[in-house]
Amino acid sequence: MALEAVNPSVEEREGEHERVESVIEPTVELGGFERRLGEVEGRVVEFAKRLEGLERTVSGFEELIAAIRCVGAWKCSTCIHNVDGVCYAWRVRDKTILPGRVVEKDGALRIAVRGFEVFCGVCPLYKPRR
Ligand code: SF4
Repeated sequence: MALEAVNPSVEEREGEHERVESVIEPTVELGGFERRLGEVEGRVVEFAKRLEGLERTVSGFEELIAAIRCVGAWKCSTCIHNVDGVCYAWRVRDKTILPGRVVEKDGALRIAVRGFEVFCGVCPLYKPRR
């Protein structure tokens, strides 16, 4: 008896196999799920490609900002309009236009360019000291 339980006959194994198949028989829903899974996989691959493109774009922007900052540092330190880190060429009407970068000097709102090399880097009003 104990030997039969451990070692089922061929008929018993086939019967068990059929019972298992009837329980996990593929259904229409399962087929739909596989198709949806394939679609999701395709979207993930497409998203990964877009992400790679975005990373390249961001990397390009980082290089551009680094170059502007480098040129800006030189312009900032040699510009006649920079007086003690405040630019006297630009005036702004509102402190919120560049939060944390606007100071009041001599009755006007001006841009604090010290530590803001990017601004000098793109500024068209640069004038070298003689
Ligand atoms: S480069 Fe432009 S922003 Fe910078 S100090 Fe000169 S005028 Fe001002």
